[in-house]
Formats: sequence, C-alpha cells, structure tokens
Amino acid sequence: MLKELLDDAVTTLQEAVEQTAAEFRPRETGTILQVGGGIARIKGLPSLKSEELVRFPGDVLGVAVNLEPDEVGVILLGDSERLAAGAGVTATGREADTPVGDGLLGRVIDTTGRVLDQGKPLSYSERRPVERPAPAIIDRSPVTVPLETGIKAIDALIPVGRGQRELILGDRQTGKTSVAVDTLINQRDKGVVCVYCAIGQRGTAVARVVETLRTHHALTNTIVVVASDEDPPGLRFVAPYAATTMAEYFMEQGRDALIVYDDLTRHARAYRELSLLLRRPPGREAYPGDIFFIHSRLLERATHLREERGGGSLTALPIVETQAQDISAYIPTNLISITDGQIYLSPTLFHKGLLPAIDVGKSVSRVGGKTQYPAFRGVAGDLRLSYSQFEELETFARFATRLDEDTRATIEHGRRVREVLKQPEHQPLRASDQMVVLKAVNAGLLDALALEQIADAEVALRRRVHAELPDLCERMETGRELDPPQWEQVLEVARKTLAEMHGQAPE
Ligand code: ATP
Ligand code: MG
Repeated sequence: MLKELLDDAVTTLQEAVEQTAAEFRPRETGTILQVGGGIARIKGLPSLKSEELVRFPGDVLGVAVNLEPDEVGVILLGDSERLAAGAGVTATGREADTPVGDGLLGRVIDTTGRVLDQGKPLSYSERRPVERPAPAIIDRSPVTVPLETGIKAIDALIPVGRGQRELILGDRQTGKTSVAVDTLINQRDKGVVCVYCAIGQRGTAVARVVETLRTHHALTNTIVVVASDEDPPGLRFVAPYAATTMAEYFMEQGRDALIVYDDLTRHARAYRELSLLLRRPPGREAYPGDIFFIHSRLLERATHLREERGGGSLTALPIVETQAQDISAYIPTNLISITDGQIYLSPTLFHKGLLPAIDVGKSVSRVGGKTQYPAFRGVAGDLRLSYSQFEELETFARFATRLDEDTRATIEHGRRVREVLKQPEHQPLRASDQMVVLKAVNAGLLDALALEQIADAEVALRRRVHAELPDLCERMETGRELDPPQWEQVLEVARKTLAEMHGQAPE
C-alpha cells in the first residue's frame, strides 16, 4: 500500500520535472558562418526543423532550408547588408506566414504583409503559413463555371473556367501583363476576388499596374503582392506562395478567387540563384532538380472545391516569359505540362498590330470549353476551326495571283473575323456584347464592310442591340441559350444598324 503510494508520488514528481524542463529548455543560439547574396550559413541550432523561421539581428528573418550535419543553409527574407559572420541567430519555432483577410483587399503589400501603399496599417484577421498543402483530390470537383476574361479571343476560343490553371506565355513585350490585368478588371462586378502577385518586376512596372487597376475601379477587389527586383531573392521566391495563401482564404470561405503570378520565369530565376548559392547541384539550364516541384506544388493549390468544402474556387493565371519564341525551353515546358492550357502571345502578331496578340493555333484550354455558356458555345462553335483554316489559306493565297471566288470570299470573311477579335487594352466586354458581335460576323453581316469600318460598326451594334433587346442580352449574360427566332431578332437589329450606318442594307 505504502509502496504504491510512494510509486505514484515518484511518477507525479517525474512528470512535473519533465514538464518544467520542457518549459525552461535553454534557448539555443546559433552563429552565422557566412552571409551574402540572400542566403546565410549558420551553425549551432541542433533542434531546428526544415522550413522553420530563424531570427537574425535587426529582426531579419530567414527560412531554414538545407539541414546538414554541421551547418544549416538559410534563405533570408530581409536585407542581409547589416548581417555579418559571427552574429547570433535564434530559432522561432514557427514557419514563414503571411496575413490573410478581407482587410487586405485594395492594398499593395509585400510578402510579409508590410504596407507599400502609404495607407493606413493593414487590418487582417489572422496569419497563415505561406506553404500549405494543396486540397486533396477527394475535396475537388470539376470546373463548371466560366471565368470571364472579357477578352473576345479568349472567352470565345480559349475559354477559362473557375478553378482552372491557364498559362499566359510569350516573349517580352507581347502583352502578357495586359491580358492578365484586363482579366482582373473584368472581375470587378463578377464577385471574383483577385490577387496580383508581381515577382521581380521593376517598381515602375508594378506602379503602372496598380494605377490601371485603380482607374478602372478594380483595385478595391484586388490584393497586390509585390516582391520587386530590388527585394532579396528569398522574398521573390516566397511571394507566390504567400499570395496563394491570401487567395486561398477566400476560396475556403466558398468564394471565387483569381490569382495572377507575373511572372514565374523570374520566380524560377530567384530560386536558381538561391539554390546555386546554397551549393545545390545544378541541372538543366542550371536550375536545381526540384524546380518542377516548386511550380507544381504552387499551382496544385488552385482548384474548384466540392460543395461540402464550400464550393469555392481558385483560378490561377501564371505568366511565363519565353525567349525568341522558344516555348520548348525548360521552364515554359514544365509550366505547360503543369497547367490546364496556355494562351500564347506572338510577337509577330503584336508587330502587325493584331492586339491582343493571341496566337489561336498555339493556344488551348483543356477544361474551360465545358464551362462556356451554351449560347456562347453556339456562337463560338466552329469559329476556332474556320479561323485557323483561314489563317492557313491566307498564307497560301499570298503566293497565288488568281484566286477563285470561294477562296477569296473565305479570306475576306476571315479577315473580318480577325478584325473583330482585335480589342483595345483595358476594355473588357460583357458576354452579351461579345456574343452579339461574334454572331453578326459569323452570319456574314460584316463582310460588306471595309476593314477600317469594323471597329465603329462593332460599337454601334453593341449599343443598338442592348438598347432594343435588353431581355435577350440579360438572357445571354446569365448563360441561357437563345432559340433560333431569338437569334434572328438579334440579327435583324444588327442588319438594321449596319444599314443605317451606310445608307444601304449589306447583303
Ligand atoms: P513584359 O515582358 O515587359 O512584361 P508584357 O508581355 O507583359 O511585357 P505588356 O506590358 O502587357 O507586355 O504590353 C506591352 C505593351 O503593349 C504595353 O505598352 C501595352 O500598353 C501594349 N498593349 C498590350 N496589349 C494591348 C492591346 N490589346 N491594345 C493596345 N496595346 C496593347
Ligand atoms: Mg509584363
């Protein structure tokens, strides 16, 4: 009896001692061995975990990435200029995290939540880790709702769905950012929350995007996350993960979110820089072996959640820059294989003034087609095929001196389709506006016009049909199909408009 009591007392005492020991574990401090170029090597933190944050003097944080037996490689998330070998380092026991919440909307911030727009301090609900596992397959559901970009060539021919990952790729200065920004602008009244993540860009370029979003009233609905080319490579590397965490917050509430990564070429370069400094073995194009994984684990986080998980979605539009139109370079092919399709912007089309310079033949959307509104599908149906046939014909026709009537008519019609697919930047169009114009050109109503008249005719058509047939336009907006007599009504108004424009009815 006494022995039992004694045993009990001993165990309790032992537990108490263990607990106190855990609470008062001596704080480990490490030392910097070497620092520079955005990384540091440290020693002396034996219980440090991979991906754990460490704190350097001056409140500079770093992420422990290379855990080796006698030293640790750390990616710095702040300025390394004032750090020197020999300085102390402490472990923080937590991972890199970022603020999330509705208070972030309309703000320009950096990866860690620092305010860059000189506004009031950031209000946020909580902080979440920047690296989070992607939703499990069982929690995902098929992409069913279109994400309207407002760009005719995309919505008609390469439609994107909510929860899809669609790559935007092209050489420098081909309008990649414009396509993404127009898509962000188009979400301002669609209830889709946006995140624009600028990676490694010049400050002026980011300022231009912010200004464009502001003037088009789309900033209040958007979070701009910036890691500029002057930021340390660590911040540029972490930026897209942090931005995704911010977007996921909305998806997990059952809302629809859209994220643009501008661009992942620079993200890959930042990672390459860090990896080489950390002495990881370089592979193809000197990128480390896990470069595919860092992009796939990022883009896997974009999805459409099933109803039981709230039914929210995260659509990703990663941008990648190609060099000399080489879409089979390492990073572009990786990203093409990870995403559900790509929008290719061609410098040739850009220089011909065919803007947006979308090369329809090299672009594809693997899941968005199913989400297109039935009315839209009817209009856009064989536009893609007939358009690529036209492009082929046009190339051959350049060498032929005499063409038969049919070929000439096909080419003339194709030229008008191409003219209609042109669109000025920052003017995204409603679905009904797009359908009216595409229906008219499909029906050959614009064939009698000169190419220069088409832009004016398009504006007139949109205005007139909206004024005279508001019910049908409403029907198109909500995705319902129009029956043939209703389409005939639309075409009738279109014919009338064009006849008035030119004083005679075009055949
Ligand atoms: P970078 O490689 O420098 O990031 P980018 O591919 O993102 O360039 P943008 O900056 O979007 O290209 O566009 C390049 C230029 O083309 C800009 O001056 C922009 O105003 C113009 N531009 C893009 N799209 C259109 C359009 N649809 N209509 C008129 N101008 C356009
Ligand atoms: Mg750009």
